[in-house]
Amino acid sequence: NSEAPAPEFVSLEQALKHYFGYDSFRPGQREVIEQALNNRDQLVIMPTGGGKSLCFQLPALLRPGLMIVVSPLIALMQDQVDLLRDNGIAATFLNSSLTVEERRSRGRAVMEGRIKLLYVAPERLLSEDFINAVLPHIRDRVGISSITIDEAHCVSEWGHDFRPEYRQLSCLRSHCPTVPIMGLTATATERVRDDIIKQLQLREPTVLVSSFNRPNLYYEVRPKGKTAYQELVKQIKDTPGAGIVYCLSRKKVDELAAKLRHEGIAALPYHAGLNAETRTENQRRFIRDDVRVIVATVAFGMGINKPDVRFVIHYDIAKNIEGYYQESGRAGRDSEPAQCTLYYSLADIKTIEYIINQKVDPTTGEPLEEEQRKSMQQLRRMINYAEATDCRRTIQLSYFGEEFPGQCNNCDNCKYPKPTEDWTVEAQKFLSCVARFAQKNQQFGIGYTIDVLRGSRAERILKNGHDQLSTYGIGRDRTPDDWRLLARSLVHQRLIDEATDGYSVLLLNELSWEILRGQRTVQIAVDKLKPTPIATETLP
Ligand code: ADP
Ligand code: ZN
Repeated sequence: NSEAPAPEFVSLEQALKHYFGYDSFRPGQREVIEQALNNRDQLVIMPTGGGKSLCFQLPALLRPGLMIVVSPLIALMQDQVDLLRDNGIAATFLNSSLTVEERRSRGRAVMEGRIKLLYVAPERLLSEDFINAVLPHIRDRVGISSITIDEAHCVSEWGHDFRPEYRQLSCLRSHCPTVPIMGLTATATERVRDDIIKQLQLREPTVLVSSFNRPNLYYEVRPKGKTAYQELVKQIKDTPGAGIVYCLSRKKVDELAAKLRHEGIAALPYHAGLNAETRTENQRRFIRDDVRVIVATVAFGMGINKPDVRFVIHYDIAKNIEGYYQESGRAGRDSEPAQCTLYYSLADIKTIEYIINQKVDPTTGEPLEEEQRKSMQQLRRMINYAEATDCRRTIQLSYFGEEFPGQCNNCDNCKYPKPTEDWTVEAQKFLSCVARFAQKNQQFGIGYTIDVLRGSRAERILKNGHDQLSTYGIGRDRTPDDWRLLARSLVHQRLIDEATDGYSVLLLNELSWEILRGQRTVQIAVDKLKPTPIATETLP
């Protein structure tokens, strides 16, 4: 073992300063690093930009032996390794883009213990040659300090980016039974978390979930009317620094990039329809500040390492909140203020609804009803976000199961609050209607509850005998739009729960009962000027 001993540090902070030049850890980083140094298996969930890389890079440098890092994207690997080498850190990568000679010389460097971090694409790692020859060789000659699986949600079919080759990574456990394994991801849902632990066969892992709040991001929603394009151009011209503009279709990306160039804005397109060289080239030029704006579909972004993106504009609405969070989260990764703008119109909703309804099974041609229903439900939550009068941050974080007390003072609704009104009486009517259902052990969604309140003669209501409820028709004095505004606000303020795994249903919680008992008042931000689309209310 020819490895030079790691320098001694009096504290982790000193090591951080020495290798990376930072003065302090971001939330969660220190805990993860300590656990890694204790050789614990770990699952680390941090939002994009939270600083996941450091969580495994620093321990790699502080422990004897080599760390293997599995990473799904070749471009991402190259970036990370370049960055590390710029910092004087011994890192390298192996993937299909290398020549035989390059591969050999890197292999030698590894075997001679000159490398601390080895990035490998899953295909390469899982190849017979690597698993059966290279891996044991590294283990015996230089030692493997640990294995890191970046973007670990790729092992899960429940995640948004399942990759079958990631599934096979489960075999690493049996090949290296004593080596600690760490998985990292920005995907927060419980189901994906459990799946990662199971698939990677993590042993009593410590699970760190850091807050998804990104306090430096300003969130706003703008109506996308006739003058939206002029407004977009003005916004880009007025906002210094680099930015990303997301559109739904490749065609719109190409058109908008060309139009912006005509306005004198240095902009390039990015989408999966461009050939690989053009994509790589455009991405590089953006990262190196050669162009200021990239106009892109959602194909752009995963693993893009550009900390100083100052604005992310969704010129078309995102399909769901998780996607919106990830995409807008590419702004301000350097923790400096950045702006996230969503342009919102009813026409875009129609477009996405159309796309969702086109989802069919590729082999049978049958509509994928379950998937369509889920997508519609997610879209509805996105619409709720766009139309909300409550704090945008609170709504986003509630989606990830994180409580935030409202009033972030860094979103449009907090900065320019809509006038509020006391709607306690209306809330009591609404909640008592839900309470009547609950008495009969029944659960319904917002739309149905409103129909009962407004005394609808719909067949389903009559069949359920709900025209006999004492709350039937007590809400005729308010429009359906008013009731929807109230219901959404109750959900956003967590004054009632909405279960959304499967069909959306309302469930009373402790706070609902306080309102019903007259122990709590309800303030609703009212914005009568904003038209409320009702298109999506025809959903099941
Ligand atoms: P993630 O992989 O979680 O999306 P990264 O690891 O790419 O995030 O980190 C995001 C940015 O934050 C990078 O520019 C990184 O250099 C920076 N960063 C990470 N940790 C720290 C820290 N402790 N202090 C300052 N900057 C940090
Ligand atoms: Zn806010």
